[in-house]
Amino acid sequence: MYTVYLEQEDSFLIRFEHVTYQYENAEAPALDDICLTVEKGEFLAIVGHNGSGKSTLAKHINGLLLPASGTVTVCGLDTKIEENILPIRQQVGMAFQNPDNQLVTTVVEEDVAFGPENLGIAPDEIRTRVDEALASVGMTAFAEKAVHHLSGGQKQRIAIAGILALRPEILVLDEATAMLDPMGRTELLETVRSLHDTGMTVIMVTQYMEETTGCDRIVVMNRGRIVGIGTPQEIFSKADLLSDSNLVPPEAVSIRDLLKQRGCDLPDDILTAKQLAEALCRS
Ligand code: ADP
Ligand code: MG
Repeated sequence: MYTVYLEQEDSFLIRFEHVTYQYENAEAPALDDICLTVEKGEFLAIVGHNGSGKSTLAKHINGLLLPASGTVTVCGLDTKIEENILPIRQQVGMAFQNPDNQLVTTVVEEDVAFGPENLGIAPDEIRTRVDEALASVGMTAFAEKAVHHLSGGQKQRIAIAGILALRPEILVLDEATAMLDPMGRTELLETVRSLHDTGMTVIMVTQYMEETTGCDRIVVMNRGRIVGIGTPQEIFSKADLLSDSNLVPPEAVSIRDLLKQRGCDLPDDILTAKQLAEALCRS
């Protein structure tokens, strides 16, 4: 499968070209002329108000939905061609909101092994993959634990381990932190960041702006369109774009701007509480 991608001359992994999609009986398109390219190894966040089209976009990446017009290419494969769907799904792991809907067995390591077993992978290879996947999400110590004893955040990390055991090229998270408590959210985000550090391409749909500060780029969606795209510094310096899109910047950015309005000399690239505290202690 990896050769599918390596044979491509371009470095992009995912490309949306003028993609439009409309649900049956819907008055307006859920995706309206979406153009987007994601590079290999990129960490991309997708933000936008409820109903802006984030999930619809995410579902186009693994061919769960197909464009009404335009083209989606993943690892060099057009999602509209039926034979491409299986290889595309092998390259795109998807994690959703509710961890309980994503776990299928009662014991952690069995759950992580479930996907590879269904692909008919040899037992030795499955063992290696399960061990590696559990280590990647920091859950090795829980291998033999019962799934129902885990917290929401731990369950979500096991769901991601199950995806990693299938060795995908791309990880798509659609509000995977939405149902977690703050601790679970932090742990999941650290896990996702460490996966990105090891070269995984990550697309993270989220409604928490704080979660996007470590991403390479943020895509802002509004009514089915991409209305902004740029680094976290660029996006969070555009107050009008955010308010027009019904979004509020991370709290540290709001405090930074209030302090600047009151004459405090602070750099524009502060995005997190830690960076703000460090800058204030220096000034
Ligand atoms: P988001 O994930 O940003 O909240 P969605 O992609 O779920 O947005 O939805 C985009 C638009 O499509 C919304 O207007 C929503 O109501 C509509 N929509 C989503 N799923 C369906 C569906 N299964 N049938 C009809 N309309 C839908
Ligand atoms: Mg959604």
